Amino acid sequence: MPEPCAYFRGQFMHPRDARIGIMTHAFHYGTGTFAGINANWDEEKQRFCLFRIKDHYRRQLGSCKMLNIHLPINEDEMADITVEAVRRTNFRQTVYCRPVAYKSSEFIGVKLHDLEDDWFVVATVLPPFATTGGLRCCTSSWTRVSDNQIPTHGKITGMYVNGALAKTEANLAGFDDGIMLTADGHVSEGAVTNTFVVLKGRLITPPPCDSILLGITRDTVMQLARNELGLETIERSLVRSDLYQAEEAFFTGTYAGVAPIVEIDNRPVGTGDVGPLTTRLKELYTEVAFGRNPKYSDWYTFLETQ
Ligand code: PMP
Repeated sequence: MPEPCAYFRGQFMHPRDARIGIMTHAFHYGTGTFAGINANWDEEKQRFCLFRIKDHYRRQLGSCKMLNIHLPINEDEMADITVEAVRRTNFRQTVYCRPVAYKSSEFIGVKLHDLEDDWFVVATVLPPFATTGGLRCCTSSWTRVSDNQIPTHGKITGMYVNGALAKTEANLAGFDDGIMLTADGHVSEGAVTNTFVVLKGRLITPPPCDSILLGITRDTVMQLARNELGLETIERSLVRSDLYQAEEAFFTGTYAGVAPIVEIDNRPVGTGDVGPLTTRLKELYTEVAFGRNPKYSDWYTFLETQ
């Protein structure tokens, strides 16, 4: 029977057997960092492709630096443990890996220094990100946290209250997701996704200084647009007017992939259908995410099952 698998305190086990105490610092204060890594299952080749796993771990270690989390492990060891956790699940479908680094001391007190740190990873399966026919989004009433409040280039657990507020507000109002704006009214991102628009034929995405996470899918799409389509992505601030004028819009993220947006604030994006550039980029992304384009072999870590 396939089962999720966790690596916790030096051992592989079922996630239900991996427990932390109620006094754990990260549980009280959100003092952790995490990542989300796909092990994409290729039915034809009977293998997983763990996509850009080292880049995910480099980013997690960067996030740890922001939170004074010191781990006695590097990205190569993290990747090896993750591959082994996926192998032990025995799943034959896409597996989602969720590593968390966190302040593990059982200690009350708001600070980051002089605390113990730990790291674990869980390999499990998620329901598919709902994109049938494209997403209907709203702009969120919640302002995206700024980098001087919580460093937004870090994937910091406590920061996700911001995205959770936006997501639930959007869902309860009948939308699929909320696009958060910065305090200056610049388009930032969705709850767990980066934002792209096509405006007058140009591919545009918010720049790093508009409180975004530097998404690995965002980077992948930018590289694919340049290498495969000869299209440079413009990183510039976007405002609400741009969202309403866009011919195409889409989100990117490990969980979401390339997810078309067809409506924003009850206005159709372009014609209201998924646009041609979005469709092409989604195809190109899917090809690399499953390890099927040898040009990008540096991005692939394969786990063979036969
Ligand atoms: N922004 C936020 C806030 C996220 O949580 C994520 C998911 N990691 C992304 C963007 C997309 O990042 P990536 O493409 O690396 O998954």
